[in-house]
Amino acid sequence: MRLNYRIILLVLAMGLTKSSLAALNVFACEPEWASLAETLGGDRVKVVSATTAYQDPHRIEARPSLIAKVRRADLLVCSGAELEIGWLPMLQRQAGNPKVLRGQPGYFEAADQIERLGIPDSLDRSMGDIHASGNPHVHLDPRRLSTIATALSDRLANLDPTNADYYRKRHDEFSQTWEEALQRWKTRALPLVGARLVVHHQDWEYFFDWLGIIRVGSLEPKPGLPVSSGHIVKLKKRLQQEPPLAIIYTAYQSPRAAKRLSQITGIPAVELPYTVGGAEGVVDLFTLFDETLKRLLEVIP
Ligand SMILES: [Zn+2]
Repeated sequence: MRLNYRIILLVLAMGLTKSSLAALNVFACEPEWASLAETLGGDRVKVVSATTAYQDPHRIEARPSLIAKVRRADLLVCSGAELEIGWLPMLQRQAGNPKVLRGQPGYFEAADQIERLGIPDSLDRSMGDIHASGNPHVHLDPRRLSTIATALSDRLANLDPTNADYYRKRHDEFSQTWEEALQRWKTRALPLVGARLVVHHQDWEYFFDWLGIIRVGSLEPKPGLPVSSGHIVKLKKRLQQEPPLAIIYTAYQSPRAAKRLSQITGIPAVELPYTVGGAEGVVDLFTLFDETLKRLLEVIP
């Protein structure tokens, strides 16, 4: 009888331990935020990502399975600055979960935590119909990412005070390793300072800002507008005078336009992972920057 009680107590204790772990359900809009939330939240968070590295985060379908995930979420972690404007508000409306609406502690926008680039002087949709609130691709500057990580760690602690010490400890560990990596990357990237690159879409502005790289053209005539052959021809003429180092595109973009321009100019086209999961071996934010630098350094003559 005594033994049975012990077993019952043990089972109860195991149940309690299990429920005190994975305290927060996190819904990340993009893989970079899923990765950061996992790093900072450890086994106290259960993270799902709405998109993969092979999906264009500006445009995804608001599928019923995503609505169900938003309904269960305690925290939404998204890029913000209107990156998800085409699909996230619809998910939030359909999910009917008041905890994760804008302005609530359960809603976290990375772009709100940092100094944003590319904020237009006036709202002018003739500049393209996206990026009207500034450039939303904020995760590609590791300095800004560090600021975002601190804010996200604080948010986890606020939402789940029981585990606050755990989140702070994990953040301290991340922060230290990240600072070391940042120094390493900065040294490694020295040959890229002042390099000139052509992009597919303006999703590298923060990375360029970090390293002092110059964007000399975009395959999209304006952010979000489709690539046209007329625009490619114009680009070719402009680039001939001073050819850039490379034409870059990401895992979620079609390589066609970059390869076409590469063919007619001889400038190399390079695919970059853009986010976690965007290339083999890119399993977290550290390997994302490692691989991006590696691929860019490889094209330096
Ligand atoms: Zn964009």
